Amino acid sequence: MGVMPCSKEGCTTILCDRYSTEFGYICSDCYEELKQFLACKYSSTQNLENLVTTFLETPHKAQYDVQDLVEGFVEGTFINYIEDDL
Ligand SMILES: [Zn+2]
Repeated sequence: MGVMPCSKEGCTTILCDRYSTEFGYICSDCYEELKQFLACKYSSTQNLENLVTTFLETPHKAQYDVQDLVEGFVEGTFINYIEDDL
């Protein structure tokens, strides 16, 4: 098995299941992230290829920091009161 480095900026995965002739290899984590990214960002004024390029150029770690930040915020804002009572 050869080395198939993920095309996403900053991603260190070197074994990827998926390959695009246009964009190169992508690992399963980034593939799932990409689907979420496209679902959030897509609008009729943008084409999907450009969004994929934007996604791949966005540093991997930066994206996770944002996710952590957002998750921390929503979890702190909308407290799960049912779970707290247990
Ligand atoms: Zn990746």
